[in-house]
Amino acid sequence: MVKLSRYAHTFELDGAVALYHSLRMKPVYLNRESYENLQAWLAGSFCNTLEEASDAIKKEVNELAKFKILTRTDDEDEKVLKFVKSKIPKPMINVCYMILSEQCNLACKYCFLGNNDSEKRSNFTLESMSKETADKVIDFFIRQIKLSDLDDEDNKPVIIFYGGEPLVNYEVLVYIAEKINALRRTEKCIKNTELSMVTNGLLLTDERIIRLKELGVSIGISIDGFNEEANKMRVDLAGNPVYSRILKTLDRCKELGANASLSVTLSEETIKNKSDILQLVDNYGVHSFGFNIMMSSEEFVLPQTYNEAAAQFILDEFVELRKRGIYEDRIMRKLKAFSKAQVYFSDCAATAGGQIVIAPNGQVGICHGCLHDKKYFVADIWNDDFDATKDKNFIEWSQLTPINKEECQDCPALGICGGGCPINAMNLKNGNTIHDLDERFCVHSKMTLEFLIKDLYRIITEG
Ligand code: SF4
Ligand code: SF4
Repeated sequence: MVKLSRYAHTFELDGAVALYHSLRMKPVYLNRESYENLQAWLAGSFCNTLEEASDAIKKEVNELAKFKILTRTDDEDEKVLKFVKSKIPKPMINVCYMILSEQCNLACKYCFLGNNDSEKRSNFTLESMSKETADKVIDFFIRQIKLSDLDDEDNKPVIIFYGGEPLVNYEVLVYIAEKINALRRTEKCIKNTELSMVTNGLLLTDERIIRLKELGVSIGISIDGFNEEANKMRVDLAGNPVYSRILKTLDRCKELGANASLSVTLSEETIKNKSDILQLVDNYGVHSFGFNIMMSSEEFVLPQTYNEAAAQFILDEFVELRKRGIYEDRIMRKLKAFSKAQVYFSDCAATAGGQIVIAPNGQVGICHGCLHDKKYFVADIWNDDFDATKDKNFIEWSQLTPINKEECQDCPALGICGGGCPINAMNLKNGNTIHDLDERFCVHSKMTLEFLIKDLYRIITEG
């Protein structure tokens, strides 16, 4: 019998209806009349085979069956899910967060690492990564890439210098970047390695900007928005705001041709103002953005309305920025999955089983969000036998995708979601674990899917 798939969802549009299979990911747009005819046919008793559809909707019915929105057998949904599950990647390491120092020169009031919390802060080691440790870190990362058996030509390993604040340990950052650049010639598996750094920007001097540019280290500056007010939670250890100092850094990066990208934490204040971002693009030549929805926890509670407002802000800015040829990372990842109709399994490298995090003392973990308590830090760089691809913790993380979660099966955003951040899910409520839903992210995923379906319809109807 022909019926709608469990994974089929409908979206109301102006004068039309979109039908969409959350795993097959190809929307089919029907005018209202065809949709009503389809509903009538499915409700009747002559829908045992596709051939029984009337001529008025035969073409549409075949299209819907092609994209699995209509199923013909009871096990069709199960087969699609089984096929998608067979594609969930196993752990394969190609991203390394190098925590050069756990210390940070700021104490942002929402910091998920805990720099605003004296108790958590006291857990951060004072010791920075030494050059001897850095040598072992590089060997360890190369070994994990080799064990992952990725194609040397296609693979682009990524090293992200992170903290605390990585520039607290600038000397070792330069040491590692120089060594990686020298090793590219002999170690094929790292020849395409991208080097980047996430910094608050306050310790960047002209000399450092020039040197980082020479070394090919891209600079990502974290910021909370595009005016003083939006950045009021971004403060130094003495509680002073730092926004004007960040602007000076952006100015120097532009002047010296170092094209910084921005990692923007969306504070409640940031999302109130949609125009300042364009001014920043114009004034400082910023061409790359990543927007981060804030994490809430029992100690840092955000209002219910925040998630929706933040998701809407990202979509509105996406529309504005793309007019200027600038594409925000978070939406782009979903847009790519949607346009290629390819399920997007994970929204971060940790849940993709692709990432290792190395603390200054050589401990090896999965996610930098656990630096303060070293949860999921499961090895160290002196363990020559460690193989992340076979480690039970890395395997557990690589399976956190919504595709494996029963509570996600009826969600329209299943194929584009990626599941958000397990650490946020864990921190949301007492008793939660990494296996719970990152509810803040659900709002963003569902709104993004609706936007993509409507945007595609607009493009089609505008010819
Ligand atoms: S789990 Fe969360 S904090 Fe950790 S890397 Fe992923 S998104 Fe970031
Ligand atoms: S995590 Fe939320 S948005 Fe994502 S698939 Fe599951 S229910 Fe849907």
